[in-house]
Amino acid sequence: MLPLPYFYIVMRIDIITVLPEMLEGFVNTSILARAQKKGLVEIYVHNLRDYTTDKHRRVDDYPFGGFAGMVMQCQPIDACISALTAERHYDEIIFTSPDGEQFDQPMANSLSLHKNIIILCGHYKGIDYRIREHLITKEVSIGDYVLTGGELAAAVMSDAIVRLIPGVLGDEQSAFNDSFQDNLLAAPVYTRPAEYKGWRVPDILLSGHDAKIKEWEIQQSLERTKRLRPDLLDK
Ligand code: SAH
Repeated sequence: MLPLPYFYIVMRIDIITVLPEMLEGFVNTSILARAQKKGLVEIYVHNLRDYTTDKHRRVDDYPFGGFAGMVMQCQPIDACISALTAERHYDEIIFTSPDGEQFDQPMANSLSLHKNIIILCGHYKGIDYRIREHLITKEVSIGDYVLTGGELAAAVMSDAIVRLIPGVLGDEQSAFNDSFQDNLLAAPVYTRPAEYKGWRVPDILLSGHDAKIKEWEIQQSLERTKRLRPDLLDK
Protein backbone atom coordinates (compact mmCIF):
# COMPACT_ATOMS: atom_id res chain seq x y z
CA MET A 1 0.00 0.00 0.00
CA LEU A 2 1.07 3.58 -0.69
CA PRO A 3 1.22 6.18 2.07
CA LEU A 4 -2.24 7.69 1.62
CA PRO A 5 -3.08 11.41 1.83
CA TYR A 6 -5.55 12.60 4.51
CA PHE A 7 -8.35 13.21 1.97
CA TYR A 8 -8.04 9.65 0.69
CA ILE A 9 -11.27 7.84 -0.16
CA VAL A 10 -11.67 4.53 -1.91
CA MET A 11 -13.82 4.91 -4.99
CA ARG A 12 -16.33 2.14 -5.53
CA ILE A 13 -17.79 1.19 -8.93
CA ASP A 14 -20.64 -1.36 -9.11
CA ILE A 15 -21.37 -2.67 -12.59
CA ILE A 16 -24.66 -4.51 -13.23
CA THR A 17 -24.69 -6.82 -16.25
CA VAL A 18 -26.13 -10.02 -17.72
CA LEU A 19 -22.62 -10.89 -18.97
CA PRO A 20 -20.32 -10.67 -15.91
CA GLU A 21 -17.70 -12.86 -17.62
CA MET A 22 -17.26 -10.17 -20.25
CA LEU A 23 -16.19 -7.64 -17.60
CA GLU A 24 -14.40 -9.77 -15.01
CA GLY A 25 -11.33 -10.27 -17.21
CA PHE A 26 -11.25 -6.60 -18.04
CA VAL A 27 -11.53 -5.23 -14.50
CA ASN A 28 -8.91 -7.69 -13.23
CA THR A 29 -6.25 -6.82 -15.82
CA SER A 30 -3.61 -4.08 -16.09
CA ILE A 31 -4.30 -0.65 -14.58
CA LEU A 32 -7.72 -1.55 -13.15
CA ALA A 33 -6.25 -4.60 -11.42
CA ARG A 34 -3.34 -2.56 -10.06
CA ALA A 35 -5.62 0.21 -8.81
CA GLN A 36 -7.66 -2.36 -6.90
CA LYS A 37 -4.56 -4.03 -5.46
CA LYS A 38 -3.28 -0.63 -4.30
CA GLY A 39 -6.64 -0.15 -2.52
CA LEU A 40 -7.50 2.96 -4.55
CA VAL A 41 -10.69 1.61 -6.10
CA GLU A 42 -13.10 -1.28 -5.59
CA ILE A 43 -14.91 -2.63 -8.64
CA TYR A 44 -17.78 -5.11 -8.24
CA VAL A 45 -19.45 -6.86 -11.14
CA HIS A 46 -22.99 -8.06 -10.38
CA ASN A 47 -24.82 -10.70 -12.38
CA LEU A 48 -28.32 -9.33 -12.94
CA ARG A 49 -29.67 -12.90 -13.11
CA ASP A 50 -28.89 -13.34 -9.41
CA TYR A 51 -31.64 -10.81 -8.66
CA THR A 52 -34.54 -12.15 -10.71
CA THR A 53 -37.49 -13.88 -9.07
CA ASP A 54 -38.02 -15.87 -12.28
CA LYS A 55 -37.31 -19.56 -11.77
CA HIS A 56 -35.62 -19.81 -15.18
CA ARG A 57 -33.42 -16.79 -14.32
CA ARG A 58 -34.88 -14.76 -17.19
CA VAL A 59 -34.40 -11.01 -16.99
CA ASP A 60 -36.13 -9.97 -20.25
CA ASP A 61 -39.61 -10.15 -21.79
CA TYR A 62 -41.54 -9.14 -24.92
CA PRO A 63 -42.18 -5.40 -25.37
CA PHE A 64 -45.69 -3.99 -24.99
CA GLY A 65 -47.05 -2.68 -28.30
CA GLY A 66 -45.95 -5.65 -30.36
CA PHE A 67 -42.50 -4.25 -31.26
CA ALA A 68 -39.62 -6.54 -32.24
CA GLY A 69 -36.91 -7.64 -29.80
CA MET A 70 -36.79 -8.13 -26.05
CA VAL A 71 -36.72 -5.66 -23.16
CA MET A 72 -35.00 -6.00 -19.78
CA GLN A 73 -37.57 -6.14 -17.00
CA CYS A 74 -37.97 -3.79 -14.03
CA GLN A 75 -37.93 -6.39 -11.24
CA PRO A 76 -34.33 -7.71 -11.36
CA ILE A 77 -32.85 -4.26 -12.05
CA ASP A 78 -34.85 -2.70 -9.22
CA ALA A 79 -33.87 -5.54 -6.86
CA CYS A 80 -30.16 -5.19 -7.67
CA ILE A 81 -30.07 -1.38 -7.42
CA SER A 82 -32.15 -1.47 -4.21
CA ALA A 83 -29.78 -4.00 -2.63
CA LEU A 84 -26.82 -1.70 -3.40
CA THR A 85 -28.45 1.57 -2.35
CA ALA A 86 -29.61 -0.02 0.93
CA GLU A 87 -25.92 -0.45 1.82
CA ARG A 88 -24.52 2.97 0.88
CA HIS A 89 -25.24 6.27 -0.86
CA TYR A 90 -24.45 6.42 -4.59
CA ASP A 91 -23.43 9.70 -6.23
CA GLU A 92 -24.70 8.53 -9.61
CA ILE A 93 -26.71 5.58 -10.91
CA ILE A 94 -25.65 5.52 -14.54
CA PHE A 95 -27.39 3.76 -17.43
CA THR A 96 -25.33 3.14 -20.57
CA SER A 97 -27.44 4.17 -23.55
CA PRO A 98 -26.80 5.37 -27.11
CA ASP A 99 -29.25 8.25 -26.50
CA GLY A 100 -27.44 9.40 -23.34
CA GLU A 101 -25.07 12.33 -22.78
CA GLN A 102 -21.84 11.76 -24.71
CA PHE A 103 -18.95 10.50 -22.55
CA ASP A 104 -15.82 12.65 -22.80
CA GLN A 105 -12.77 13.68 -20.76
CA PRO A 106 -14.57 16.36 -18.67
CA MET A 107 -17.22 13.78 -17.73
CA ALA A 108 -14.49 11.25 -16.82
CA ASN A 109 -12.78 13.93 -14.71
CA SER A 110 -15.93 14.76 -12.78
CA LEU A 111 -16.98 11.11 -12.31
CA SER A 112 -13.49 10.33 -10.95
CA LEU A 113 -14.22 12.67 -8.02
CA HIS A 114 -17.19 10.58 -6.88
CA LYS A 115 -17.10 8.02 -4.11
CA ASN A 116 -19.70 5.47 -5.25
CA ILE A 117 -21.20 4.96 -8.69
CA ILE A 118 -23.37 2.27 -10.28
CA ILE A 119 -23.13 1.53 -14.01
CA LEU A 120 -26.05 -0.45 -15.43
CA CYS A 121 -25.43 -2.23 -18.74
CA GLY A 122 -28.43 -2.63 -21.04
CA HIS A 123 -28.96 -5.46 -23.52
CA TYR A 124 -31.46 -6.51 -26.20
CA LYS A 125 -33.71 -3.56 -27.10
CA GLY A 126 -32.79 -1.83 -23.85
CA ILE A 127 -34.42 -1.66 -20.41
CA ASP A 128 -38.00 -0.98 -19.33
CA TYR A 129 -38.26 2.82 -19.52
CA ARG A 130 -39.70 3.07 -16.00
CA ILE A 131 -36.28 2.18 -14.58
CA ARG A 132 -34.80 5.13 -16.47
CA GLU A 133 -37.53 7.43 -15.17
CA HIS A 134 -37.43 6.36 -11.54
CA LEU A 135 -34.00 4.97 -10.63
CA ILE A 136 -31.38 6.23 -13.09
CA THR A 137 -29.67 9.57 -12.33
CA LYS A 138 -27.47 9.84 -15.44
CA GLU A 139 -27.57 8.32 -18.94
CA VAL A 140 -24.29 8.03 -20.82
CA SER A 141 -23.40 7.13 -24.42
CA ILE A 142 -19.85 6.35 -25.52
CA GLY A 143 -20.53 7.44 -29.11
CA ASP A 144 -23.03 7.65 -31.94
CA TYR A 145 -23.20 3.96 -32.78
CA VAL A 146 -25.20 1.07 -31.35
CA LEU A 147 -23.51 -1.75 -29.44
CA THR A 148 -25.19 -5.04 -28.54
CA GLY A 149 -24.76 -4.35 -24.82
CA GLY A 150 -23.55 -1.76 -22.32
CA GLU A 151 -20.54 -3.82 -21.15
CA LEU A 152 -18.05 -2.20 -23.53
CA ALA A 153 -19.38 1.22 -22.52
CA ALA A 154 -18.97 0.32 -18.81
CA ALA A 155 -15.41 -0.88 -19.53
CA VAL A 156 -14.52 2.31 -21.43
CA MET A 157 -15.92 4.53 -18.68
CA SER A 158 -14.30 2.59 -15.81
CA ASP A 159 -10.91 2.68 -17.51
CA ALA A 160 -11.07 6.42 -18.26
CA ILE A 161 -12.27 7.20 -14.70
CA VAL A 162 -9.94 4.96 -12.71
CA ARG A 163 -6.72 6.15 -14.40
CA LEU A 164 -7.50 9.67 -13.14
CA ILE A 165 -7.58 8.66 -9.46
CA PRO A 166 -4.39 9.99 -7.79
CA GLY A 167 -1.87 7.19 -7.29
CA VAL A 168 -3.28 4.88 -9.97
CA LEU A 169 -0.83 5.82 -12.71
CA GLY A 170 2.85 5.47 -11.82
CA ASP A 171 3.78 9.03 -12.74
CA GLU A 172 1.38 11.39 -10.92
CA GLN A 173 1.57 13.90 -13.75
CA SER A 174 0.93 11.60 -16.62
CA ALA A 175 -2.86 11.79 -16.70
CA PHE A 176 -2.73 15.61 -16.82
CA ASN A 177 -0.92 15.99 -20.12
CA ASP A 178 -2.92 13.39 -21.99
CA SER A 179 -4.99 14.48 -24.96
CA PHE A 180 -8.21 16.39 -24.12
CA GLN A 181 -7.02 17.70 -20.75
CA ASP A 182 -7.13 21.51 -21.35
CA ASN A 183 -8.83 20.73 -24.69
CA LEU A 184 -5.46 20.07 -26.36
CA LEU A 185 -4.17 16.98 -28.14
CA ALA A 186 -0.96 15.48 -26.72
CA ALA A 187 2.44 16.18 -28.29
CA PRO A 188 4.15 13.28 -30.15
CA VAL A 189 6.30 10.94 -28.03
CA TYR A 190 9.47 9.01 -28.95
CA THR A 191 11.72 6.42 -27.30
CA ARG A 192 15.13 4.86 -27.93
CA PRO A 193 16.91 4.48 -30.29
CA ALA A 194 17.30 8.13 -31.37
CA GLU A 195 17.67 6.93 -34.96
CA TYR A 196 15.85 3.94 -36.46
CA LYS A 197 16.14 3.06 -40.19
CA GLY A 198 17.32 6.64 -40.68
CA TRP A 199 14.15 8.01 -38.98
CA ARG A 200 15.34 10.60 -36.48
CA VAL A 201 13.83 11.82 -33.23
CA PRO A 202 13.48 15.68 -33.24
CA ASP A 203 16.88 17.14 -32.20
CA ILE A 204 15.30 19.34 -29.54
CA LEU A 205 14.32 16.26 -27.49
CA LEU A 206 17.97 15.19 -27.31
CA SER A 207 19.21 18.68 -26.37
CA GLY A 208 18.71 18.30 -22.61
CA HIS A 209 17.34 21.87 -22.55
CA ASP A 210 14.24 21.47 -20.35
CA ALA A 211 12.66 24.89 -20.99
CA LYS A 212 13.04 24.59 -24.77
CA ILE A 213 11.67 21.04 -24.69
CA LYS A 214 8.61 22.24 -22.73
CA GLU A 215 8.11 25.05 -25.27
CA TRP A 216 8.37 22.51 -28.13
CA GLU A 217 5.81 20.28 -26.44
CA ILE A 218 3.28 23.12 -26.06
CA GLN A 219 3.83 24.28 -29.64
CA GLN A 220 3.38 20.72 -30.97
CA SER A 221 0.25 20.31 -28.90
CA LEU A 222 -1.26 23.53 -30.27
CA GLU A 223 -0.24 22.79 -33.86
CA ARG A 224 -1.72 19.27 -33.78
CA THR A 225 -4.95 20.50 -32.17
CA LYS A 226 -5.34 23.28 -34.79
CA ARG A 227 -4.77 20.80 -37.59
CA LEU A 228 -6.61 17.71 -36.34
CA ARG A 229 -9.26 18.95 -33.91
CA PRO A 230 -9.85 22.70 -34.39
CA ASP A 231 -13.24 22.29 -32.67
CA LEU A 232 -11.43 21.75 -29.34
CA LEU A 233 -9.88 25.23 -29.48
CA ASP A 234 -13.36 26.80 -29.54
CA LYS A 235 -14.21 25.26 -26.15
N1 SAH B 1 -32.75 0.03 -28.96
C1 SAH B 1 -31.78 0.86 -28.35
C2 SAH B 1 -30.39 0.27 -28.45
C3 SAH B 1 -30.22 -0.97 -27.65
S1 SAH B 1 -28.60 -1.57 -27.73
C4 SAH B 1 -31.76 2.21 -29.04
O1 SAH B 1 -32.00 2.28 -30.23
O2 SAH B 1 -31.43 3.21 -28.38
C5 SAH B 1 -28.50 -2.51 -26.24
C6 SAH B 1 -27.81 -1.85 -25.09
O3 SAH B 1 -26.45 -1.62 -25.41
C7 SAH B 1 -28.34 -0.49 -24.66
O4 SAH B 1 -29.43 -0.60 -23.79
C8 SAH B 1 -27.14 0.11 -23.96
O5 SAH B 1 -27.05 -0.30 -22.61
C9 SAH B 1 -25.97 -0.48 -24.73
N2 SAH B 1 -25.42 0.46 -25.73
C10 SAH B 1 -25.54 0.36 -27.07
N3 SAH B 1 -24.92 1.36 -27.70
C11 SAH B 1 -24.36 2.13 -26.74
C12 SAH B 1 -23.60 3.35 -26.77
N4 SAH B 1 -23.26 3.96 -27.90
N5 SAH B 1 -23.18 3.85 -25.58
C13 SAH B 1 -23.52 3.25 -24.42
N6 SAH B 1 -24.25 2.12 -24.33
C14 SAH B 1 -24.68 1.56 -25.47
